[in-house]
Amino acid sequence: MGLIFEKSVSGRRGYLNPKSDVGVKGEIASKYKRGKDCPFPEQTELDVVRHYTALSQKNFSVDTNFYPLGSCTMKYNPKFTESVAQIPGFAQLHPLLPQLKNGEELTQGALHVLYEMEQFCCAITGLDAFTMQPLAGAHGELTGVMMMAAYHKAKGNKKKYIIVPDAAHGTNPATAIIAGYEIISIPTTKDGVMDLKILKEKITDEVAGMMLTCPDTHGIFNSDVDKISEMIHAVDGLMYYDGANLNAILGRCRPGDIGFDVMHINTHKTFTTPHGGGGPGAGPVGVNKKLMPYLPISRVIKKANGTFALNYDYPNSIGYIASFYGNFALLLRAYAYLLLLGKEGLIETTNHAVLNANYVRQRLKERYTIAYDRICMHEAVFSANKQAERGVHALDIAKYLIDQGMHPPTVYFPLTVKESIMVEPTETEAKATIDDFIKAMFAADDLSQTNPEIFHDLPKTTPITRPDEVRAARDLNTNFFGKLS
Ligand SMILES: *Cc1c(COP(=O)(O)O)cnc(C)c1O
Repeated sequence: MGLIFEKSVSGRRGYLNPKSDVGVKGEIASKYKRGKDCPFPEQTELDVVRHYTALSQKNFSVDTNFYPLGSCTMKYNPKFTESVAQIPGFAQLHPLLPQLKNGEELTQGALHVLYEMEQFCCAITGLDAFTMQPLAGAHGELTGVMMMAAYHKAKGNKKKYIIVPDAAHGTNPATAIIAGYEIISIPTTKDGVMDLKILKEKITDEVAGMMLTCPDTHGIFNSDVDKISEMIHAVDGLMYYDGANLNAILGRCRPGDIGFDVMHINTHKTFTTPHGGGGPGAGPVGVNKKLMPYLPISRVIKKANGTFALNYDYPNSIGYIASFYGNFALLLRAYAYLLLLGKEGLIETTNHAVLNANYVRQRLKERYTIAYDRICMHEAVFSANKQAERGVHALDIAKYLIDQGMHPPTVYFPLTVKESIMVEPTETEAKATIDDFIKAMFAADDLSQTNPEIFHDLPKTTPITRPDEVRAARDLNTNFFGKLS
């Protein structure tokens, strides 16, 4: 199927607006007007609908197939939360609705949702206050680390470094650098956790804090986390919790209770919203009392008369980090999801996420090297090192799975494991689906022994088969898609 631009036929229209018969107020000055028409494709409405419907059917999604992409929590999102996000009273709300004469905001319902969402997040994480504004996990990290920097500045602390374990998600070091810090990287021991001995050597008064994912990207919960936070706090450092994959601990453990000062939640991973391909997201950030003065503005407050308002009066705030109140529709979905599941439902979420991952770990370790052979949390990390010796690499296995109708797991991450395959089955998958995946992984291993060559031009079932990755990087031609049949 060609690009919509290639299908353009001069003069085709969806519909034509009649010529305006009222005067135009505030005509745009001619120097701001374009000289000729914008080269938009010209098509009928039906052609446009067919084009995009056909494109959408080339999508791979949780709604169509199994999607065990580690560290991404690609789980099923109930349609109920979608319907809540579409309630016209919310969907058509304008953020600049005027206030009533008595100064009250007209957006009471939305503010109520944001206010309660903050309380739910506090209850789930054990922290004292949340901002709902950050627009994704990485944006939440930046917001959190900016607050850490504001804390140190206010106290006159001379800080230079943020400690990040080598297994961290790439956004952690990137965040710390953008916020103006340098990174101290701590290696992983053979048990899959941060090396405490090396950590001890690296902690100095110049350490601003640590960013920790727990369970980390190996899916392992670091049981020394209380000791680690004591060590960091001893130099007035702060503990940042990367809570992107919170389905590992919901209702079981609260970061605020185990020494963390600040964290983000990826609502789009843990609390529903179809995500992927870069968005959309929402990354609420929670803090304890130490960091509360620095939260971004505005903040939603409840007044004595029970109405809700926006308060901007926080002189030490780091300021604005997003327009208006963040990705409100995502927060609304998350709010509906939390009410739908309730406390017991959230605990079950974690139970199933962890059970499913351990089932995969236990079954697959017969054929694949398990990176760290111990109880894991929401994901399990394998190495295809045995298969690689036969010439079949993690990437080849990933491509094979595509032909079996499954999204590949995350490969070559975490960087600490050679030929890594990181599987996050999530809590929403049935045993039968996971068994099909295990069967496919076994079949890939069989084939790696009998017929390793066949892997090299997989996948065969997709619009694009195996691209020449070197050429794609050096000689990128986006019009390539126009040549798809
Ligand atoms: C997904 C993820 C992030 C980044 O979240 P985005 O919403 O993609 O910016 C950070 N840390 C971990 C551990 C993650 O899994």
